[in-house]
Amino acid sequence: MDENTNNNVLVIGAGMGGIQASLLLAEAGKQVYLVEKEPLFGGNVIKYEEVFPNMECSTCMIAPKQQEVLQNPNIELMTHSIVEDVQGSVGNFSVKIKKKARYVSLVNCIGCGACYDPCPVSLDNEFEQNLSQKKAIYIPCPGALPNVPVIDPEYCTRLKGVDECSACKDSCMFEAIEYDQKDEILDVKVTAVIVATGFGLFDITAAPKYGYGKVKNVYSAFEFERLFAKNGPTEGNTVLKGGENPNSIAIIHCVGRKELGYCSGVCCMYSYKFSQYLKHSFPDAKVFQLYSDMCVPGKSYQKFYKQTMDKGVDFIYHEDVEVKGNGSKIKLNVKNGKDKDQELEVDMVILAQSLKSTESNSELAKILGIEQDDKGFFVSMTESFEPASTAKPGIYVVGCSEAPKDVPQSIAQAEAAVGKVLALT
Ligand SMILES: Cc1cc2nc3c(=O)[nH]c(=O)nc-3n(C[C@H](O)[C@H](O)[C@H](O)COP(=O)(O)OP(=O)(O)OC[C@H]3O[C@@H](n4cnc5c(N)ncnc54)[C@H](O)[C@@H]3O)c2cc1C
Ligand code: SF4
Ligand code: SF4
Repeated sequence: MDENTNNNVLVIGAGMGGIQASLLLAEAGKQVYLVEKEPLFGGNVIKYEEVFPNMECSTCMIAPKQQEVLQNPNIELMTHSIVEDVQGSVGNFSVKIKKKARYVSLVNCIGCGACYDPCPVSLDNEFEQNLSQKKAIYIPCPGALPNVPVIDPEYCTRLKGVDECSACKDSCMFEAIEYDQKDEILDVKVTAVIVATGFGLFDITAAPKYGYGKVKNVYSAFEFERLFAKNGPTEGNTVLKGGENPNSIAIIHCVGRKELGYCSGVCCMYSYKFSQYLKHSFPDAKVFQLYSDMCVPGKSYQKFYKQTMDKGVDFIYHEDVEVKGNGSKIKLNVKNGKDKDQELEVDMVILAQSLKSTESNSELAKILGIEQDDKGFFVSMTESFEPASTAKPGIYVVGCSEAPKDVPQSIAQAEAAVGKVLALT
């Protein structure tokens, strides 16, 4: 390492992996720049009501860590921001970060929410998987942190130059709306970089046999998480599109596994979690798990699988499945390797999609000079027993940015990366 070695570390992505790494580094006295592209932080876990294997309340797990990040003087959290350039080498990287204009002051805003209703623009809320609407000034969901809205310049009629609307500013008693905010570029020097950019989900519209978008009451995995979440669009009241409760539900495993060419390792577990959600809300409902391979390694996974079976869930083996509408019901044609296909009729279908790499990884790989595998995940030096290191000294990869994994595994890899960073200095 050269003489310019400093005490700063860049962490990219503020999900469980990035948060855990940042908190540990800060505790060890490092100055952390934690860069998150979304206007809120917490990653995918904040979409869930509960987390396997202990069915712990997700907010109870992550909110205290988020508060620690917000209050820790050694962590500078930059939401709504991206890394644009990284030059140099271990011990002395020069980084350019773009902080996008939020148009709302993080200092003045108290998060009262008075500015949303007066906004005349309504849009689909992507965080809620388009199951609800938001305004052009919004926070993605109740409880989002930081609890400060953002204005979407693509849709705000004033920022687009269509009119002189000032409805949000007029309703804010705290002078927090700042239409003249501009994007800012920040130049920082860091000694090391930890990448924690997480995952996306297999695009189910690419597999029409599952009926998604065509057959009513066929849901994606994130849609179902948000339907069950108390801070979600139905306040946790899992109802069908017509407003009734479901009496029979099929959860289809491995959606996208063949297309993507690998097992994501967590979909069986989150499918069992979904069964437990459903049995909790509707104890008499029939719940079918349509599995093709069971991936339940380790003692906690086995225990969770057994708990799910004990709740009276039916397990059906499938090699392929076709989902069709049948009046108000959904008809499933299950190919099970036997001479005759099995037919099933249910009210609701949930697709347990495989995890795929984050789209922005390719841009980041170029900026950082690190390698992606043929699936788009970042390559770590697992073969030489350095699971968080990349081939480029000083750059580490953690959580689902490296490969699909669960929260404990993401945290373990984050801690491994922190160990490596601390060993540098
Ligand atoms: C439906 C479902 C349910 C699940 N349930 C559970 C469960 O109950 N228990 C469990 O242990 N695991 C569960 N998992 C797995 C769990 O979600 C992951 O293990 C966990 O989210 C991994 O954390 P992460 O920090 O690696 O990634 P993420 O949670 O994906 O966070 C990554 C963060 O990086 C940000 N980011 C991405 N690109 C950039 C960029 N270029 N610049 C800046 N920021 C960027 C993202 O916006 C995000 O905030 C579930 C997965 C799914 C799909
Ligand atoms: S911008 Fe103003 S009105 Fe809107 S949430 Fe913040 S303080 Fe409340
Ligand atoms: S200025 Fe833009 S964000 Fe504010 S109320 Fe008008 S349209 Fe909505």
